[in-house]
Amino acid sequence: MSNLYLDTRGYCTEPVSFTEAVVKGLADGGGLFVPQNLPSLTLEEIVALADKPYAQRAAEIYKRFDIDIPDETIDALMDDAYGAQFDSEDICPITSLDENTHIMELWHGPTAAFKDMALQCLPRFFSASTKLLIERGKLDHQFMILVATSGDTGKAALEGFCDVDGVSIGVMYPDGGVSDIQYKQMATQRGKNARVWAVKGNFDDCQSGVKAVFSDEKFAAKLLADHKLALSSANSINWGRLLPQVVYYISGYAKLVVKGAVKAGDPIDVCVPTGNFGNILAAWYAKQMGTPIENLICASNTNRVLTDFIETGTYDISDREFVLTPSPSMDILISSNLERQLFELSGRNAQAVAQWQADLKDKRCFTVDAETLARVQETFKAGSTDDEACLATIKEVFDQFNYLLDPHTAVAYRVANEQRGANPLLIASTAHWAKFGENVYRGLHGLAAKDALPEDIAALSGCELNRFIAKEINNPYIPKGLDELDELPIRFTEVIDSSIETMEECALDFARAI
Ligand SMILES: *Cc1c(COP(=O)(O)O)cnc(C)c1O
Repeated sequence: MSNLYLDTRGYCTEPVSFTEAVVKGLADGGGLFVPQNLPSLTLEEIVALADKPYAQRAAEIYKRFDIDIPDETIDALMDDAYGAQFDSEDICPITSLDENTHIMELWHGPTAAFKDMALQCLPRFFSASTKLLIERGKLDHQFMILVATSGDTGKAALEGFCDVDGVSIGVMYPDGGVSDIQYKQMATQRGKNARVWAVKGNFDDCQSGVKAVFSDEKFAAKLLADHKLALSSANSINWGRLLPQVVYYISGYAKLVVKGAVKAGDPIDVCVPTGNFGNILAAWYAKQMGTPIENLICASNTNRVLTDFIETGTYDISDREFVLTPSPSMDILISSNLERQLFELSGRNAQAVAQWQADLKDKRCFTVDAETLARVQETFKAGSTDDEACLATIKEVFDQFNYLLDPHTAVAYRVANEQRGANPLLIASTAHWAKFGENVYRGLHGLAAKDALPEDIAALSGCELNRFIAKEINNPYIPKGLDELDELPIRFTEVIDSSIETMEECALDFARAI
């Protein structure tokens, strides 16, 4: 019997298998899936992982989780997921700034953001899961993934699902609301199972429209009857996106040992620039499974709801304004994966979790009990960095180490240095700087986040600006997927309104074309 998955709110009485958890995404009733049993690894097993190629490390850990996909299939999927589309054979190499400060570069994948680490896996799990469930007579249709994106997730999902069997991927982004690089990344997407639409309005309009499509039962029935398709999403509440992230924390520790940076068994601290809490939760699972991680440092930007929660035990968005910062992928008010963490730290108390989530929905605020808070504070340290400190950190680190951070990693670096103790520190670097060239330019040139760029700089395309910065810092490396964008043909030009009717017509038109 393979490992099963529980629902954090306890509404699903029957636990589900891995393949079912992947295909469903969310439990009925709105809870999230978590594994019933967590495997544990000995120190020797962890260190031995460093000798294998990354794909095999991932496969080995998934097998330990006892997922209901055959071992040979897991091996083949991981060879595919962590192959030549990464521009480093190490997949996520570690750069050491000094003896005790190590940057784990999670951005060597095709879209230059850490989301590739998971979104090169999830589509393959998804496709394998639908196939297996159809064979087992538990499913008789296929899926269309529909994503509303403010930038990073959409492209990583397009690239991950592109040309994957039996799944199609549609992405909607706010027209004019993403950077030149992000726009070109999506508008030039290849793949016969992919579609992209620009939506008039801001990200909220775009996301509300997509959510309305998801909850229209009549539309779901029509899509199923006419096209044998159901809608699904690819966001980070899916366990199939979380599991791949556990791998690099275990593997990162192993590599530090092999590098001689840490003595086997000695603890390290990990700092993660956090938005939806997925990435840092994966580090917690790695710790739970036996990786010697002592402190988990949660770094926020000005949207510091998580930092306040960790400090006080109250998660309060009733009177909190959403702020746009130079680290947009951490601009978030509702951090969905915290629910999994609270389930685990409350002693898997589904009733309490369901109540907190209900309070969040009704009162926009919840407070955990003293015992849970004590466990949260035992495990996590937290801090936040404002816009100007973030940009200043980019320059400071470059001047000191000749290493350029993106704004998200800069937030983490700053917080980590405020919170760190004597342990060696591993910082999760979540994007290559060239995804956020404009703010990196501001940082390097002492401009404030709100300052306009000089006219000659503002006139450059995203690719041109990146090449300008690369010359300035005397390091020509720009990820290929970002550097080639000006040369690729624009494939998707459709601009639509954000009404549910228009979005459904687009999805149907796409379904007819597949
Ligand atoms: C998504 C993202 C984050 C936040 O990760 P979570 O798992 O949502 O906490 C941080 N940095 C970058 C560059 C991202 O794309």
